[in-house]
Amino acid sequence: MAVQKRTSTNVLLHTALQNFYSAAEEMGLEDGLVEVLSRPERAICVSVPVKMDDGSVRVFNGYRVQHSTVCGPAKGGLRFHPDVNLEECEALASLMTWKCSLAGIPYGGGKGGIAVDPFELSPREREMMTRTFAARIAPFIGDWTDVPAPDVNTGGPEMVWIMDTISKLRGKLEPGVVTGKPITYWGSKGRTAATGLGVSTCVLELLKRKGIDPKDATVIVQGFGNVGHYNALFLQQAGCKIVGISDITGGYYNPKGIDVVAAKAHVEKHPKRILEGYDEPGLQKMDGNAILEQECLVLSPCALEGVINEKNAGKLKCKYIVEGANGPTKPEGDKILDERGILVVPDFLANSGGVIGSYFEWVQDLAGFFWTEEEYNSRLVPIMKDNFKRVWDYAEEHNVKMRRAAFLVAIKRVADGLRTKGFFL
Ligand code: GLU
Repeated sequence: MAVQKRTSTNVLLHTALQNFYSAAEEMGLEDGLVEVLSRPERAICVSVPVKMDDGSVRVFNGYRVQHSTVCGPAKGGLRFHPDVNLEECEALASLMTWKCSLAGIPYGGGKGGIAVDPFELSPREREMMTRTFAARIAPFIGDWTDVPAPDVNTGGPEMVWIMDTISKLRGKLEPGVVTGKPITYWGSKGRTAATGLGVSTCVLELLKRKGIDPKDATVIVQGFGNVGHYNALFLQQAGCKIVGISDITGGYYNPKGIDVVAAKAHVEKHPKRILEGYDEPGLQKMDGNAILEQECLVLSPCALEGVINEKNAGKLKCKYIVEGANGPTKPEGDKILDERGILVVPDFLANSGGVIGSYFEWVQDLAGFFWTEEEYNSRLVPIMKDNFKRVWDYAEEHNVKMRRAAFLVAIKRVADGLRTKGFFL
């Protein structure tokens, strides 16, 4: 019987399935493995009741999806965002499977989150929501089963609440149950900057292959959170000119080059941690979508998914795209970029520095022995360079786009694992 191809009305899941099916077809993956890998192993839905500060009760929907544990414990972030839903988590969990596989680290893929606007909650409400969510997914997470981490709108505080809740439930410290923890609480030096360091390493590797001196490269980084900011900072330190940055308050363009350090200092001082009000000589303020369409050599989208699509892909003025976000390019946009000869370094290669960094944190937690930041970075950068090279070489050799090459390499490792161990449990 032929494979029953799944479809979805959810854009991200639709994209994930399409990318998987077409790569699977190209590599001639057996039907049985296609069926297995196009579904998550386990999808958990929980309700998360919270007693609000005014005494009322609100119930939020929480999710954790484990797409695959073939290569090791499920690994992936938790996001707090109003748009979080089961299908989105499913898509992002599968992306984590491919990301961890490609990175060569001993993990499968997972993702989860809560459908909530966390900025509407007080600190106490936020903590109670996170702890209740952790308690409800507790039977399914652990250092050798599923290891959550930060994602959109989550970070150190959330990870500490989860670790503490799980530790209390189990009656012993469980540092390896989540990664992305603060350094003072079993976190790792280097983890905060890891994703941005990985993205910038990919940009610099790309420039090297194209024979471009970083000093001649202009870059626009969309998103000025953890990923975007460090990416922009490291690229600036390497000599690139950062001509554009953006966040929810819009785009900031400066053909003379933005001072990333000053912009970050502004964000740190702003009560809402945003770029609003930032100014410097030559700076032009514009719409958040317009920044994507400005002149630059490299565009690096480091915010949410779907920002490069059929509407704007034809208007971009960059030569290269290095994806720091998960799923920033829709397949319709990808097709146009391909026709226009714009080279894309795909998300699950470019932003894998985060999860590779999480792997380092987990290793340190399990050993109870901590590395210096230099040790951390000196392990991360060579892995990113190697992974970039593997995908680049495969793409050249087989004359395929880097996204396709990355999928083919990643799926192969998981498929080999499945063939070896079978599907028991
Ligand atoms: N949320 C990040 C990602 O999408 C990190 C996941 C992790 O460290 O487990 O890759």
